[in-house]
Amino acid sequence: MKHLHHVSLKDHCTFRIGGIAKDFFLPQNMEEMVDLIRQHRKQRRPFWILGGGANTLFPDEEITISIISTKEMNNYHHDGQTIYAESGMVLDTWVLNTIRQDLQGTECLSGIPGTLGGALFMNAGAYGQEISDHLVSVTVLTKDNEILKIPKNQCGFSYRMASHIQKTIILAGSWQLPKGDAVLLLAKRKEILTQRRKKQPLDYPSAGSVFKRPPGAYASQLIDQAGLKGTRIGGAQVSEKHAGFIINTGNATCQDVLELIELCRQTVREHFGHELELEQRLCPACPNT
Ligand SMILES: Cc1cc2nc3c(=O)[nH]c(=O)nc-3n(C[C@H](O)[C@H](O)[C@H](O)COP(=O)(O)OP(=O)(O)OC[C@H]3O[C@@H](n4cnc5c(N)ncnc54)[C@H](O)[C@@H]3O)c2cc1C
Repeated sequence: MKHLHHVSLKDHCTFRIGGIAKDFFLPQNMEEMVDLIRQHRKQRRPFWILGGGANTLFPDEEITISIISTKEMNNYHHDGQTIYAESGMVLDTWVLNTIRQDLQGTECLSGIPGTLGGALFMNAGAYGQEISDHLVSVTVLTKDNEILKIPKNQCGFSYRMASHIQKTIILAGSWQLPKGDAVLLLAKRKEILTQRRKKQPLDYPSAGSVFKRPPGAYASQLIDQAGLKGTRIGGAQVSEKHAGFIINTGNATCQDVLELIELCRQTVREHFGHELELEQRLCPACPNT
């Protein structure tokens, strides 16, 4: 088990924001992960599970809760059309692996940053596909410290949500993917990556879309129509390219981002009556959490 001290969280999230974590653990496999969580729970020690940090905002101050990274728990294998992968595997690597095995159903997820665990926790998706589409089951550690294999239909997947596994630690998943043609799928992947580069502010650190899509509307459109595109607080800015993203222009703090989030929510509420729900996850050590 790797146990690091005084790790800069800026280096472990796509927002490039965050203070120093006193304790940063990198379990090397599922057994180490399970032991570590059980120990933390036994000692009533708080922890935060970190995948790729592509949807996470960390506080600026030193963090005393343990940060447990899944990154090195990333085994992958396939048996025909059945894929098994551990939660720390990088989502985009998983997509490429499946495509190269002539399997389809993942290609539209190309380019989404983060790990499989984070994607399952968030039910990540893009361009009509979601990580849960061809899922068979997830293996989790429950809040009662039991290892369970939960079939897809009991996970409670909906838009950017997996309600029944929110309180679990996701250890691995298995998928059954339809046969496809790698050449066509790679072409589709290329098209998706081009679209993402065209529409998203990928030149700046961010954590993707800040808010979920409200019913019957798009958060980015509401923010844009409320006149907030380009609005800055400190180093945080509502992206000019995609108003659904808050970008870090260089020296944004967690506080800057939280204030800008609040400004967007308040302005959109006043203009359109929509209540914007946060998609991004705030580490519990963040102010106001
Ligand atoms: C440029 C950019 C573009 C993006 N585009 C998209 C997009 O098109 N579609 C989309 O859906 N998202 C998108 N996102 C958001 C992000 O990529 C996804 O939410 C991704 O699935 C997060 O994965 P992660 O591993 O980085 O999660 P993290 O940020 O590390 O964690 C997110 C949440 O999951 C929890 N978690 C992580 N791993 C586990 C685990 N193993 N067990 C239990 N809980 C866990 C964390 O505690 C946290 O609550 C984008 C982000 C960026 C920066």
